[in-house]
Amino acid sequence: MKIDIRNVSHTYDVEVIKNLNLSLSQYHSVAIIGVSGSGKSTLLRLMSGLEVPSSGTLNINGMDVREEEYRRHIGFVFQFHNLFPHLSLERNISLILEKTRGMSPQEAKEIAIKNLELLHLGDQIQKLPKNVSGGQAQRASIARALSINPNLIFLDEPTASLDPILTYEVLQAVQELKGLGKDFVFVTHVMSFVRDFADYVIFMDKGEIVEQGTVDILDHPEHESFREFMKKVR
Ligand code: ADP
Ligand code: MG
Repeated sequence: MKIDIRNVSHTYDVEVIKNLNLSLSQYHSVAIIGVSGSGKSTLLRLMSGLEVPSSGTLNINGMDVREEEYRRHIGFVFQFHNLFPHLSLERNISLILEKTRGMSPQEAKEIAIKNLELLHLGDQIQKLPKNVSGGQAQRASIARALSINPNLIFLDEPTASLDPILTYEVLQAVQELKGLGKDFVFVTHVMSFVRDFADYVIFMDKGEIVEQGTVDILDHPEHESFREFMKKVR
């Protein structure tokens, strides 16, 4: 994917993203790491066009992220699954395909089932979110993100609410998606996943990118804040 972020700042009550610049062109799976409150989720929301920056521009894959066309080709998986509670896993996906892509019920259902099967949920499709595990619900969210056939998927701490076993299950499922030829930008605290899945790593602190590079930067962090962070997450 091609990422071109220029002079992006974002302020809520205080400035949480500070004149951030990022230019990448040859990577397919970018991890954003850093302590809580460092601005990771905000950056992800800015990159996905869910939020408009106070200043600066974000251009991804040759498109301004504010373009409608850009947003048709991205998927977003949040920290908590946010599936509709009263709809089955299958209907959570097919309804969106019918409403936003104008698909026939038949086609929408087929695509929903195909993507749920891809996430190993083929035997759970008629269950409500409350009747599956947190890991299964999160995998259904990933299936939902995939179902619109995006070329870029954002994942914001998709396993934050899960225990270690379910975390493993979800991250394993995400790794299996690597062969689909999609690009990923994701936030996680699971460093083994960063090592296995990322081909580029960005470390953020206080709204700034402090260090970035290929995965081996995890093994010799240079800046003090990054060194401290790596001591805690290892
Ligand atoms: P991270 O994902 O790294 O934990 P966030 O991007 O969520 O960091 O938050 C960065 C800072 O912005 C934090 O201080 C957070 O409290 C603040 N923040 C995030 N979202 C909002 C919001 N919608 N309104 C006000 N402040 C926010
Ligand atoms: Mg966050």
